[in-house]
Amino acid sequence: MSQQGYVAAPPYSQAQPGMGGYQGGFGSGPAQPLYGHYGGPPQAFTAPPAGMMKSPVSSAAGMPPPPVSSQYNPNVQQNGAHPQRYPAPPAASAAYGQPPQSPYNSMASPGPPAPQQLTNQMSAMNLGSYGPMQSPPPPTSSVAQQPFQTPPPPAMGQPQMPPGPQSPHMSQQMSPQMSPPQSPPASMPMAGPPLAGPLMVGSQMAGPPMGGPPMGGPPMAGQFGGQMAGPQPGMPGAFPGAPASLAGPPQKKLDPDSIPSITQVIEDDQLKKGGQVFSTNIRGQVPPLVTTDFTAQDQGNASPRFMRCTTYSLPCTADLAKQCQVPLASIIKPFASLPKDETPLYVVNHGETGPIRCNRCKAYMCPYMQFIDGGRRYQCGFCNCVSEVPVFYFQHLDHMGRRVDFYERPELSLGSYEFAATLDYCKNNKLPNPPAYIFMIDVSYNNIKSGLVKLICDELKTLLEKLPREEGAESSAIKVGFVTYNKVLHFYNVKSALAQPQMMVVSDTAEMFVPLLDGFLVNYQDSRAVIYNLLDQIPDMFADTNESETVFAPVIQAGVEAFKAAECNGKLFIFHSSMPTAEAPGKLKNRDDKKLVNTEKEKTLFQPQKGVYEQLSKDCVAQGCCVDLFLFPSQYMDMATMADVPSHTGGSVYKYNNFQVETDGEHFLRDLRKDVQKSIGFDAIMRVRTSTGFRATDFFGAIHMNNTTDIEMAAVDCDKAVTVEFKHDDTLSEETGALIQCALLYTTISGQRRLRIHNLSLHCSSQLSELYTRCETDSLINFFAKSAYRAILNQPLKNVREILVNQTAHMLACYRKNCASPSAASQLILPDAMKVFPVYMNSLMKTAPLVGSTELSTDDRAHQRLSVMAMGVEDTQLLLYPRLIPLHTLDVNSEALPAPVRCSEERLTDSGMFLLENGHSMFLWLGQAIPPDLIQSIFNLPSLAHLQGHMVRIHLKCILSGTFSFCSTQLQIVRQRDKPEMLFRQFLVEDKGLHGSASYMDFLCYVHREIRQLLT
Ligand SMILES: [Zn+2]
Repeated sequence: MSQQGYVAAPPYSQAQPGMGGYQGGFGSGPAQPLYGHYGGPPQAFTAPPAGMMKSPVSSAAGMPPPPVSSQYNPNVQQNGAHPQRYPAPPAASAAYGQPPQSPYNSMASPGPPAPQQLTNQMSAMNLGSYGPMQSPPPPTSSVAQQPFQTPPPPAMGQPQMPPGPQSPHMSQQMSPQMSPPQSPPASMPMAGPPLAGPLMVGSQMAGPPMGGPPMGGPPMAGQFGGQMAGPQPGMPGAFPGAPASLAGPPQKKLDPDSIPSITQVIEDDQLKKGGQVFSTNIRGQVPPLVTTDFTAQDQGNASPRFMRCTTYSLPCTADLAKQCQVPLASIIKPFASLPKDETPLYVVNHGETGPIRCNRCKAYMCPYMQFIDGGRRYQCGFCNCVSEVPVFYFQHLDHMGRRVDFYERPELSLGSYEFAATLDYCKNNKLPNPPAYIFMIDVSYNNIKSGLVKLICDELKTLLEKLPREEGAESSAIKVGFVTYNKVLHFYNVKSALAQPQMMVVSDTAEMFVPLLDGFLVNYQDSRAVIYNLLDQIPDMFADTNESETVFAPVIQAGVEAFKAAECNGKLFIFHSSMPTAEAPGKLKNRDDKKLVNTEKEKTLFQPQKGVYEQLSKDCVAQGCCVDLFLFPSQYMDMATMADVPSHTGGSVYKYNNFQVETDGEHFLRDLRKDVQKSIGFDAIMRVRTSTGFRATDFFGAIHMNNTTDIEMAAVDCDKAVTVEFKHDDTLSEETGALIQCALLYTTISGQRRLRIHNLSLHCSSQLSELYTRCETDSLINFFAKSAYRAILNQPLKNVREILVNQTAHMLACYRKNCASPSAASQLILPDAMKVFPVYMNSLMKTAPLVGSTELSTDDRAHQRLSVMAMGVEDTQLLLYPRLIPLHTLDVNSEALPAPVRCSEERLTDSGMFLLENGHSMFLWLGQAIPPDLIQSIFNLPSLAHLQGHMVRIHLKCILSGTFSFCSTQLQIVRQRDKPEMLFRQFLVEDKGLHGSASYMDFLCYVHREIRQLLT
């Protein structure tokens, strides 16, 4: 069998001008030789091309958008001459402290406090934990260096306060500076100036709105790796956690509602845009939030379900980008699921020639190609190169210069569509075979004993009936295979002709091979009887096993070899429970070491063991072998290494600590079912092209990069997102804007080769205010989460946290300096689109991977780090700001859930019942004084005592079905003041963290102080 992978076989090895050799494959659409290939005269064009499904007349079902051109200006797409739909509005901002514009004025106070007061205030605010952010610090105290080992000051020492309506800490200690909301505007809303004497807010801050000199303050280089702010004069390395000295006048309470609220922002957006159609016809239009319920209508740009951006207005120059430090990135989820009321992607077939592409940059035909010369040529919107229109593709232009068939061709009028790929886009110039799923079950002692093996085998009998299939197909084309293993591997022949399955054992795990070709990967429908038989037998076959050692890398290797032998790609589902300690390649040792936490070497805990697994990832990607891992550990298993292959092959890792069938079985099965049935593409390569002036420079995801441009994924499913960062290499034009084209070459579940194209046009501006107005906080935080989680592989956590805070302050200071109207320095002014950015950022810094605490499990931290790397914007949003739903206000007769409340203990009430969910964990929190009739009405039970986990789960499911994403989470029930409540409280992200991290309010104060530093 020749299995040379991508590298050797044309067109993958065909070098393209200006593109490193490999990427040619993705790019080497046959261009020149095909001119006139079809040779036909123009009448050929009257017939819609193969693959076009409907003519415009019958487009009621949604196919190419009907010519509703009142809104849709083709010029926007075609030549970039974009009418100013967004006359630069005055920079919208929430000015904390300015009553007319803002509800956030309650923090105002008459004037700058005396320095002494401030010192007390700051100490009291426990800002010490941020001390080391002035790095590299000539440590002013050892405290500053090890914030998380510092015992917190007494007042802060109680990790949690009894529930109550106020924020106890802040309200007490900040109150000397606070005045009631009605007080006149003044200049001391947040933390006071750290330097003695009041800060002057004057002309130097109120300079020209734009293009001012770069930010003052210490140099702050880019993210992660750069030199960050040095020690700042006047700012001690730490605020030594002095006991809260509550000096000053009688205190007033700070209203926690006065600081920006995520739930409010979500609600407002839902009110404004919920239930509406979002048409993608305008360049640089900011979409509804991910939390908002909307319908997307593709009118020339990709739906936000596929692509979101950190900002929809790019700064024109690299200088401006550098000045504001707002990352320019796009989060691309190429396979995102669409709701039922949105049109699935059309498949365009350009016939034997394959998709039409720009001669120079190889961008695919799209709405940004401008047809000229009577329709005989077109100019590429990406590189400006003019190419001939192939004869078969010729069409006349109308009086607006638009092709007459504009609405008949998805590739001319839509942001997203697919092309049927030709042989040139296939490995070895051969059409791919349908993919295969191999189920690989660890049958060592623990898994047999726990009942897991039986659970899996039973489930597979029904699950295999539901393998994904093409729409309209009667059955799935995906083949299936089965392997069990402990120290050795057992392959099964399940050929339909057999009466009984046959087992073949491979004990030489060093040289893995597949002992059978015929009968290993089969069509489930054909072999159902034999497979049933096998699944019945497996648990019994190993019932008496004493084998507790396992291998792991050879299992993956076996999967790769099986795909090679069958010349297909696919996915491995591996069910594994222990660290592989048996003598074999990829054997692992326990290297967990809590002593490394908070040291320079902490990063090694996140780094995978090199060698075997690194090579294995490459082999998997080359073969299109995606690895999904279901882990059932009872102790440390070196997650960083074991999850390495999945995290480079578009795979997922599920983890069930101390798994028990009774309590965790349902959760696991739910995950498994969802995972098996997901829509997915295999053997994928993605390329992100941009118009001139900027380009994709960095990529984050469950991906593999062999070079600097091709994003390889053994598979990509509907939940996987790739975050792409862009940098300038020239000046962008306000007139033409900036274009992004994401092209994903992949194999469908039935073995067809396709190209999925997503196009997005962004606005460009030399006004930074535009950038801030069109920021998207949820996307920004996705970018920051991924970049920080990658950075901790190479840098001490402390540095990474510092960079996050510094960059936050810098972004906001730049806004303040260049975009906000002049106001007192003591006011914290945030861009409206970023006003909740600090909450998310603070929450990110409290996540397990970024918190140096010995109490956290190394494997859990590594697991979270890796899962986030592949997340889309929806997932990171929910992870970093869980939904906290006051269930006691549920109207049992209504479909709707109560609106979520802020994630803070202040929102909990003794007589309440709250549901908290973040996409991974779900809690039901029960107050001590819940009235029995509430229990009765919601659970149909007489009292709390009758609540049992299982039952609650079922009842809740009934109540919430259809309104709540219940899929991959396990419900945990916690009662107020019971010990497990701590678990729940760590998700109250506005409060102080369990491991010493800051509350939202503290963080906001700290950031404000940093901003003021930067502005002086
Ligand atoms: Zn081009």
